[in-house]
Amino acid sequence: MLKIAWSEIYAHPLPEHHRFPMIKYELLPEQLMYEGTITEANLFQPSPLEEPYITNTHDATYWHRLKHQQLSQAEIRRTGFPMSEQLVLREITIMHGTVQAALFALQYGVAFNIAGGTHHAFTNRGEGFCLLNDIAIAANYLLEKELVKQILVVDLDVHQGNGTAQIFRNNPAVFTFSMHGRKNYPAHKEQSDVDIPLEDGTDDNTYLSILQEVLPRLLEQVRPQCIFFQSGVDVLSTDKLGRLGLSLKGCKERDRFVLNLCKQNHIPVALSMGGGYSEKIRDIIEAHANTYRLAQEIFF
Ligand SMILES: [Zn+2]
Repeated sequence: MLKIAWSEIYAHPLPEHHRFPMIKYELLPEQLMYEGTITEANLFQPSPLEEPYITNTHDATYWHRLKHQQLSQAEIRRTGFPMSEQLVLREITIMHGTVQAALFALQYGVAFNIAGGTHHAFTNRGEGFCLLNDIAIAANYLLEKELVKQILVVDLDVHQGNGTAQIFRNNPAVFTFSMHGRKNYPAHKEQSDVDIPLEDGTDDNTYLSILQEVLPRLLEQVRPQCIFFQSGVDVLSTDKLGRLGLSLKGCKERDRFVLNLCKQNHIPVALSMGGGYSEKIRDIIEAHANTYRLAQEIFF
């Protein structure tokens, strides 16, 4: 059974006019249900994550200040969000969604969160629409509960997973891999265990051949018992922020390759949504929907 975390609060934390595109959080589950890829039964609703699992990854003082709306104006500006209690509630609900998706992945082989991939959240600060780091929190959860010993983060969002890299810099139990636009945000890159910076305009063939060369080798080297896949679709040529040149088909082949590899090697994979900022909402939804269609095709 394909399990997918989703909550009403994912889509409605901000005033309508805000520039961060929230509508995809509402349209994607609608599309997947409309076309019959999933039914209501596939969705589960996470509750807000309990504090100890947040401070297991994040600095307690930072979390306290975030929770009590005490971030400075400069800190708030870096997040890109207008800060509110509702936004923090959304964030900790997303965190629980990825934790539960990871647990379902261990059970069923694959599971999703229709949000998350908040890879720009550091131990003690947020930036780029990320307040807390869902993949880091979920990875630490699995390690603390001793459900797995070795984790691999596969971050294929067009932006570097700088927060995730920082959080796990000195933790060999979590191997971080990020493939991203070299000239893209963040200007200052952190050091992941493996970084692959790509040039502007990188096309399907170049992208896929690099991924096909690197990822199988990493699986052999790292031998992960669980993979977190940040499957952002801002790699599309149509993306307003992306700078890369992938087609919808290329993006789908990317996801097919990763999911097939996980399935063949019996490695549970938990997917977080990541970015997607194409001009047309239908390109964003189509690219994200492909990932879910593939999971159903490959795993069930
Ligand atoms: Zn991104």
